[in-house]
Amino acid sequence: MEGLEYDNAMEHYYTLKAKYDKALRKAKTKIKRSNDSMEEKRRKIRKLKKKCVKCRRAGGTNFTNNGEVLKATCAAETPCKLHIEIQKSNYNFLPTEIKHNRKIIADLKQRIIIIKLEFLYDLEKESETIVKFDKVKKLFESYFEHLTTLETLLEKNYNWTNRISEIEAARLQLYTYNEQFKEAINDFKINDNLTAVKDGIQLYIDQILPLQEEVQNNQYARLYVDADNEESEIKFRLVSERNSILQKEEMWKEGKVLSNIK
Ligand SMILES: [Zn+2]
Repeated sequence: MEGLEYDNAMEHYYTLKAKYDKALRKAKTKIKRSNDSMEEKRRKIRKLKKKCVKCRRAGGTNFTNNGEVLKATCAAETPCKLHIEIQKSNYNFLPTEIKHNRKIIADLKQRIIIIKLEFLYDLEKESETIVKFDKVKKLFESYFEHLTTLETLLEKNYNWTNRISEIEAARLQLYTYNEQFKEAINDFKINDNLTAVKDGIQLYIDQILPLQEEVQNNQYARLYVDADNEESEIKFRLVSERNSILQKEEMWKEGKVLSNIK
């Protein structure tokens, strides 16, 4: 993933879309609550002039999401520069992929047995059997290789436990440093000990700050995008890796910011 650039573009897209949808909903609600007849209300809603979220010109903003690419552009007659286009990154859940592959492999094994049986019972000519057998065998091999790759990936990602124990260790260390820091500050407050406060600040700069950063980076290593759900406005959220299933996911396709013109 492109990291910050990608996250920024994502946030930009969803923020604008939420703003746009909200304005539209508000305008519709206003019409619905008016004293007009049903027919008049419908007519007004149909004729509702959408405004571009960026330039406010009539025509509105086009937000599209085909599952792969998110796009926002101005739909006014003379469009403004707004152009967000993001190729979404694509995650697959590894255990599901592995299960799926195992099933295919089991089916292929069955087919190999059937081919062998057909040959044994003389139901088919030898040449036909060989062609069929080779085909299935090749499929079997490629799926088997794929399965091995997936299993290796999963194992690699399970190394995650190491990372979590590292976070725990860093947290403990951080706690100790913080206590030392507090002590130094207290020492200064009570005894006017300047050396203590200087040491405390040094400790803060040299140890506490970098460690805090490390813990944060480790814990919130990735932002990831939820599955599309048109119902909810914000589909983009920060998920702590510790509670997520991301450690069992592998990125299939890298996300890319194609444009992010505000
Ligand atoms: Zn516009």
